[in-house]
Amino acid sequence: TSDQVAFIGLGNMGGPMAANLVKAGRTVTGFDVGQEACDKAREAGVDVKGSAAEAVQGAGTVITMLPNGALLLSVYDEVLGAAAPGTLFVDCSTVAVSDARQAADLAVAAGHRAADAPVSGGVGGAEAGTLTFMLGCDEALVEQATALLDPMAGRVVHCGASGAGQAAKICNNMVLGASMIAISEAFVLGEKLGLTHQAFFDVASTASGQCWALTTNCPVPGPVPTSPANRDWKPGFAGALMAKDLGLARRAVEESGTDAAVGSLAEELYRRFADEGGAGLDFSAIVNTIRERSAA
Ligand code: NAD
Repeated sequence: TSDQVAFIGLGNMGGPMAANLVKAGRTVTGFDVGQEACDKAREAGVDVKGSAAEAVQGAGTVITMLPNGALLLSVYDEVLGAAAPGTLFVDCSTVAVSDARQAADLAVAAGHRAADAPVSGGVGGAEAGTLTFMLGCDEALVEQATALLDPMAGRVVHCGASGAGQAAKICNNMVLGASMIAISEAFVLGEKLGLTHQAFFDVASTASGQCWALTTNCPVPGPVPTSPANRDWKPGFAGALMAKDLGLARRAVEESGTDAAVGSLAEELYRRFADEGGAGLDFSAIVNTIRERSAA
């Protein structure tokens, strides 16, 4: 198969990811509907084409990094017929598990091979080439997909069949959203009870309340100097993205009939946080909303 990689969706994440493929010596064709994304990618050495269908011509693999599942399915609709038979399609966007499975089914029905490989690590990880990829595909594709992702990756974890990468991502982020709310509520309750941030941190960080939301991304300034709270909650992981991921988790919760009361409530609280000014702040800024709503 051709070692040319087609990269569709050259935005905040896709742009630097494609640039790392170029740096690793791959031939990368690409397409984005946005002019600025195209210009930046061209500067990074991507051969930017006039359409997605054009970009996939001659490619052995196609990577997509798009905003949502509806756009993913419309791009697949456009490119599946234009790609050479047997092309490996790897979607790195964060989309619903059901959309990921549908996209993979469409690719396979068109004579191709498919994987979902959503990421964590953010724009910083995309630039540094240290993303964690959560891979969902047949066992037979793991080696090829891993080799493809390697220049962009710190780690590639095979999670199971198509859709399993997305499932791992939303399950993880459902824990993250819920645990950040729990930690934030505890800080605000502590304030009301006269407990200092540092004292709560010193106890919980080495006790059973210990979690990433506390010890790495601590929502209040002070205890963890590198957390976003110390730079006015500049992201980091933006509230809008947390609301999006929890929305996908909620859809999966409903479609699967899972009794996930806390995860569903976390989605409601993050949706409201994002709508009321938190979209562009780190998701840990929800502590400030909780404090405001707790004012007597
Ligand atoms: P982005 O909006 O910066 O990039 C998406 C790009 O897709 C844009 O440049 C847009 O013009 C392009 N696009 C839209 N429709 C298109 C089409 N039909 N054809 C070609 N290009 C099209 O978003 P992003 O931050 O790069 O995120 C991309 C994906 O990665 C999302 O699914 C997001 O949830 C996920 N993600 C983002 C982060 C993050 O920190 N930004 C972290 C993990 C996962």
